[in-house]
Amino acid sequence: MPGEFAFIDSLRARVRSNDGVVRGIGDDAAIVRFAPGEECVVTTDTLVAGVHFPLDAAPADIGYKTAAVNLSDLAAMGATPRFCTLALTLPSLDGGYVEPLIKGLLALLDTHQVALVGGDTTRGPMSLTLTAIGSLPAGTALGRDGARAGDVVYVSGTLGDAAAALALRGQRGDSLDGERKLARTRLQQRLARPTPRVALGQALRGIAHACIDVSDGLAADLGHICRASGLAAVLDSVALPASRALLTLVDDPGQRLALQLGGDDYELCFSVAPENEEQLAAIAAATHTALTRIGTLGPGEGVHFLDADGRIMSAPAAGYEHFR
Ligand code: ADP
Ligand code: MG
Repeated sequence: MPGEFAFIDSLRARVRSNDGVVRGIGDDAAIVRFAPGEECVVTTDTLVAGVHFPLDAAPADIGYKTAAVNLSDLAAMGATPRFCTLALTLPSLDGGYVEPLIKGLLALLDTHQVALVGGDTTRGPMSLTLTAIGSLPAGTALGRDGARAGDVVYVSGTLGDAAAALALRGQRGDSLDGERKLARTRLQQRLARPTPRVALGQALRGIAHACIDVSDGLAADLGHICRASGLAAVLDSVALPASRALLTLVDDPGQRLALQLGGDDYELCFSVAPENEEQLAAIAAATHTALTRIGTLGPGEGVHFLDADGRIMSAPAAGYEHFR
């Protein structure tokens, strides 16, 4: 049975470094370096077994998603991810799940050249806390409080796939035809392995006035921008981007809208001045990310939705909140 130190040694042997790492795993603390004029951007997210993923989730997906949700937070700030630390709590170190868990985590970190420079390993019910550290030119971070009246609101990718995958989890797949089976697999992939919009976040520096990643649900997260910026959002419910898979599996527009506000999307929602809108086509092309205009910001408060006829809808469901 591998002990804590054998585990750390094996981890140390396989993590990739980068040019900002002065000292990685193996000392009392890590040392990293930033270029002059850079700011350091730090975020932490925890995934707890049974809360953020079901107990039977694939370990490789759990590892991957732990990295994805943290890189998504850095992306929402416009930062370039650089380093991370991992506080890992596991029932045991010799379960067959440890290797795929680490593999899934390192897969996404390696994709973005993020170095795992330290952490902690403890015994207990499974939980993973990643602290991710990024950098950006001083003063260029995308906050929640920078939106202005008259801004237009955009969202990347599509909304509702992860929420739909969760909602469909209980349903048996036997009765589904080939196209629907494929669509369900697509949705499940989006839930298990969300794509953090890292390149997009960086490209939006100097263009977006405010930015947030959609984790708790579009209305809830855009609500944070509205509150921080002292504005109201009016969104066109029909404009919210839906994937082909979602359209294939969920016919009812009302049900689809509820799922599109369900969260776990890890898309970026941001606001830009109308005169900057024309730059977004080039950014979408360069980052291979669809960008959809979904509404506008103005005086007032809250997030409001227009129906297909342009009338204000009564409030659709809010997002996820712990302890509620
Ligand atoms: P300490 O007792 O000083 O906290 P540890 O024995 O906990 O040291 O850790 C030894 C080294 O291994 C440290 O560099 C620490 O950051 C690293 N480490 C421990 N657990 C992990 C982990 N899960 N992921 C990455 N690095 C880790
Ligand atoms: Mg320790």
